[in-house]
Order: sequence, then structure tokens, then C-alpha cells
Amino acid sequence: MLIPLENVPLVTHCTLRVGGAARYFIEAADEAAVAETIRWATGRGLPVRVLGGGSNLVIADEGVDGLVLKIALRGVTTRETPSAVEMTAAAGEPWDDLVRHTVERGWAGLECLSGIPGLVGATPIQNVGAYGQEVSDTVTAVRALDRESGRVVTLAPPECGFGYRDSLFKSGAPGRYVVLAVTYRLAPGAAPQVRYADLARDLESRGIARPSLAEVRETVLKVRRSKSMVLDAADPNVRSCGSFFLNPIVEAGALAAIDARAAGLDMPRWPQPDGRVKLSAAWLIERAGFARGQADGPVGLSTRHTLAIVCHDGARARDVAAFARRVRAGVESRFGVRLHAEPVFWGRIGLD
Ligand SMILES: Cc1cc2nc3c(=O)[nH]c(=O)nc-3n(C[C@H](O)[C@H](O)[C@H](O)COP(=O)(O)OP(=O)(O)OC[C@H]3O[C@@H](n4cnc5c(N)ncnc54)[C@H](O)[C@@H]3O)c2cc1C
Repeated sequence: MLIPLENVPLVTHCTLRVGGAARYFIEAADEAAVAETIRWATGRGLPVRVLGGGSNLVIADEGVDGLVLKIALRGVTTRETPSAVEMTAAAGEPWDDLVRHTVERGWAGLECLSGIPGLVGATPIQNVGAYGQEVSDTVTAVRALDRESGRVVTLAPPECGFGYRDSLFKSGAPGRYVVLAVTYRLAPGAAPQVRYADLARDLESRGIARPSLAEVRETVLKVRRSKSMVLDAADPNVRSCGSFFLNPIVEAGALAAIDARAAGLDMPRWPQPDGRVKLSAAWLIERAGFARGQADGPVGLSTRHTLAIVCHDGARARDVAAFARRVRAGVESRFGVRLHAEPVFWGRIGLD
């Protein structure tokens, strides 16, 4: 029988280490427990929040007035065909352990996503990506509990609505699906992808012209570590949720006005397939006058990555939101570009 815990502090369940308690909290280790938990909460009219590793969350100081469902489903199965490996991982599998597993076996497709914190079930939520790879490149199926119908469904990639750090699960129908397992299609023996200058430079400096998957993983981890983008308890920048802001994507027609405000600065830009243009949030933040390490009391920018907002002793969620608002306002007044937050906000907190 289901017995949720009451008044459970969430501060240790998220990487920012801020936020209040969950009114109810339950950890589900199998699909039946997930379904039972959802029924229990629905029957009581309680909102449900699904928790993975808490690495992309800002939880309000007042906490969550509802039920937090911690995903603890484990297990990995693989099906090998002559040309591919279909790997299905339960939502509670630690993401980076899974990536390491694929690299060790020589299965290409996830190597550039090494070192990203969190659990498998969250990877389709914001279509996790880094260094030129996104999970949507390899995801073939998402098994999920549809809270609307109460049934377990399998969604194919076109149904997942994947976009840049976005999906059906994040913005199309937020809260509707509890991801139970994800299937990735990997390429045994294929060459790794090196699309990013940072990676290419590091490999070149070590004389590696044709890197193995393991060498790419090692390079990604090294570059990420240099930016405090892996979780390391000894790192003073550790209390973050990675990049706090998305790279803004603007209409091509808006570019001239932004360029005019940039007044001769060579602003980085990446044309998108739909004709819009992606800008660099880090560049905009820096040119708006914010420096790495700059802080307002216990919250500030990482000393090693402009996009990461980090917490120090005494920080509260409201300090994080206030600092993020200040950065956003600075960029907007300097360039007329509005930044949007990447993490998900729980409870009575947000940037607006
Ligand atoms: C140091 C650092 C570096 C990072 N680098 C990257 C990066 O390079 N690229 C990148 O994309 N992200 C990055 N992130 C952000 C984060 O790690 C990823 O978004 C990760 O996938 C979140 O996983 P999680 O399990 O911690 O999710 P959580 O933070 O627990 O949850 C995030 C959201 O997903 C939902 N969710 C989680 N699991 C499920 C599920 N099973 N079913 C339904 N909804 C679910 C939650 O409800 C919430 O809305 C970084 C974060 C940190 C701290």
C-alpha cells in the first residue's frame, strides 16, 4: 500500500540546493508504483511534480503544495541488429552512467552528451543537448504514463515535438506525461561526432586526428570540467542548474535593430532552418555588463561560465530569481532581446 512521506525538504533533491518542502513525497521504483501514486494524488486533487535528479529545477522557498514523485525506476535492455543497437533505459537510470556504458561498448550517438547530470527520464523533457548532439538525434521511443487517459503509451519521435531544449513534455503538454523509459538508437562502431570547436581544438592539441568514442567522451568531460559543467562537490560553482538561460532565437527581421544596438560589435549568430536566427545568451549577458563571478549577495554568475547562475551559503530561491531577473533586464535594456530561463520553476516562483 502507498504511504507518501509528508513535509519532505527538497533542498537536497536539487542541484541549486534551495527551496522548501514537498507536502507529500514518494519514490516510485516500478511502473505500478508510478500509476498508483498518480491515482492517489489525482483522487485527492493534488498537483503532481515529477522529480528526476533535480538538476534543472528552481524550487520555491515555500516548497511544493502537492505531491512530488521521485522517479527510481531502474534497468537497461538492449536489442542488437546488424546496423544498430536499440537501448531502452528506465527513467531512473543515471544519465552519465548510461552514456559511459554506450561509449565502453563502442556504440556511437551519445558521446557528446557525457557529463550531463540527471536521470534518463528527463532527457526527452528538454531534448537534452551539448556539443552538437541532442537526444532527439537518437531517441526512437518514449514510454510514458499519460495522466489524461491513465494509460501507458509509447510516443514516436514526431509525437514528442522535439525542438531546441524543448519538447511536447516541456511546453506542449507540461505535466501530462510521466516518462517511464526511453529508447535510443545507437550506431555500433561508428565514428564519434566532433562538431564543436572547443572539442576539435583540444583533440588537435593532443595530436588526435581520428578520435575514438572514449577520447571524445574524455575531451567533453575535460572541457565541461573547465567550465564547472559537471557536478563536483569540491567546485565552488557546483550549486547551479547548468545554463540558466536559453540562447534566444529571434526573427531574421529583428536582427538589424539588435545589430544597431550592438553598435559595431561582432555579435555571434546561427541561422536556423526555419529562417530565424539563434544568438548567444552568454555573449549578450557579457556585453550587457555582467562578468563571470559577479554576485548579488549569495547568488551570482559562475566564475567559469557566464550562463550558469550559482548559489552560495545563505542563498534562497527568491535570490536566484531576483538575480536572474536582473540579468534578463540588463540584456533587454542593452539589446532589446528577452532571455528565457532554461530550468523549470516549481511552486510560487518564476521570473515574471
Ligand atoms: C552542471 C550542470 C550542467 C548541465 N549541462 C546541461 C547540458 O549540457 N545540456 C542540457 O540539456 N542540460 C544540462 N543541464 C540541465 C540538466 O542536467 C538536464 O536538463 C537534465 O536532463 C535534467 O535531469 P534531471 O533528472 O535532473 O531532471 P529534473 O531537474 O529532476 O527535472 C527537470 C524537469 O523534467 C521533469 N522530469 C524529470 N523526470 C521526468 C520524468 N521521468 N517524467 C516526466 N517529467 C520528468 C521534471 O518534472 C522537471 O520539469 C545541466 C545541469 C547542471 C547542474
